[in-house]
Amino acid sequence: MNPHLNALAISEESIAARGLRACKEATELESAEIELDGRDHLLIPSAAEAWRRLKAAALADGITLFIVSAFRSVDRQAEIVRRKLDSGMSTEAILAICAPPGFSEHHTGRAVDLSTPGSQPLEAEFDQTAAYAWLQTNAGRFGYRLSYPVGNPWGYQYEPWHWCFHDAQPGSAADAREVQRHA
Ligand SMILES: [Zn+2]
Repeated sequence: MNPHLNALAISEESIAARGLRACKEATELESAEIELDGRDHLLIPSAAEAWRRLKAAALADGITLFIVSAFRSVDRQAEIVRRKLDSGMSTEAILAICAPPGFSEHHTGRAVDLSTPGSQPLEAEFDQTAAYAWLQTNAGRFGYRLSYPVGNPWGYQYEPWHWCFHDAQPGSAADAREVQRHA
């Protein structure tokens, strides 16, 4: 039982209805990137390492990507939801754009919200950028996948900026399929 859910009037039923999976808070984190304003974006070491390689590969192709948000604690997520409730938003409306505390991929230290210069952060128009096109083609090579495409089964809005690291090593899943195809 997640004590935050009661406090935020989010029912276990609404969680179950969406098929949301609990996300454990990461314990081992490192700096993945420091913003110009000094904000430190944390990820688990494997995700941070993969992020740095992804970012460098993008840059080599003339694409600049940067992190807007990475690790977020369960407590911080609860604060975000609380603030939205206090502003008068309904629970339903909040859960369309925001994971309940305990259910955000950002807790795991594997998820990043990305942006590129000239693009408004956390807006669907990100999918019109060259950076997004690059991610679609290349992010998988670094183990990063788009979590919330249009029509995702969890009832979240389309989030072209949200990518999550899934441990794929270069030369694992995709290449294994390639090998199979040629076998
Ligand atoms: Zn996100």
